[in-house]
Amino acid sequence: MSPGSMGGRLAGGRRMLVVSAHSADFVWRAAGTIANNTAAGGCTTVVALSFGERGESGELWKEPGQTEAAVKAIRRSEAEKAAAVIGAELVCLDLGDYPLTVGDAAIARLADVVRSVSPNVVITHPALDPFNPDHPVAHQATLRARLLSSGAGVASAFETVAPSQLFVFEPHQPELCGFVPTDFVDITGSFAAKQQAMEAMAAQKYLQQYYAERAGHRGNHARKVTGDPAVRYAEAFQRLTPQVVGVL
Ligand SMILES: [Zn+2]
Repeated sequence: MSPGSMGGRLAGGRRMLVVSAHSADFVWRAAGTIANNTAAGGCTTVVALSFGERGESGELWKEPGQTEAAVKAIRRSEAEKAAAVIGAELVCLDLGDYPLTVGDAAIARLADVVRSVSPNVVITHPALDPFNPDHPVAHQATLRARLLSSGAGVASAFETVAPSQLFVFEPHQPELCGFVPTDFVDITGSFAAKQQAMEAMAAQKYLQQYYAERAGHRGNHARKVTGDPAVRYAEAFQRLTPQVVGVL
């Protein structure tokens, strides 16, 4: 894919930070957007707070005699493969899942990652998810770490980085999570890479078709917004911080 294939919508690359509760969440919901960022010369760091080893590794637990350690190793390897396909750097904090708990030490580690990446854009889960115990925990942890790394906009007693734009990616059941898209990212040019990244997450095979279909539906919505028939696939995001612009 080249930036030119995106019909001029692909702006310059960003420093992007994606925080994923489990090691596959970023793939279903943002892989195309990450691949676009890579193609535009940007860099993306993905933090996987856990491997989703207990709650989101369905296929692996069908194996007789399966162990948590083995599932974690497989999930790490799958996520590394997926991240490599879309050009992201993967950081695994291995905090455990179902339940995911992000204590003070982990918040400090996450804030250190935010400082070292100094992202223009931060993307994570929405605040609400009545079907998942860990996704809202990841949301709160990300917001805390982001604020602890940027301070209150005044001189602070700790090292700060510039505030980032904050987005949430699309949850599994958007209406029930209060998710209202504000931005569609045209991933027509990176859809093949997204599919390849999704195929790497073999422990959740059942989601591959679901999220391919979702990208097609969002592509339909993006076509309606733009009137551009070239948009075939899109990912949806909700912006949580206002944009500052010179003209509307
Ligand atoms: Zn998850």
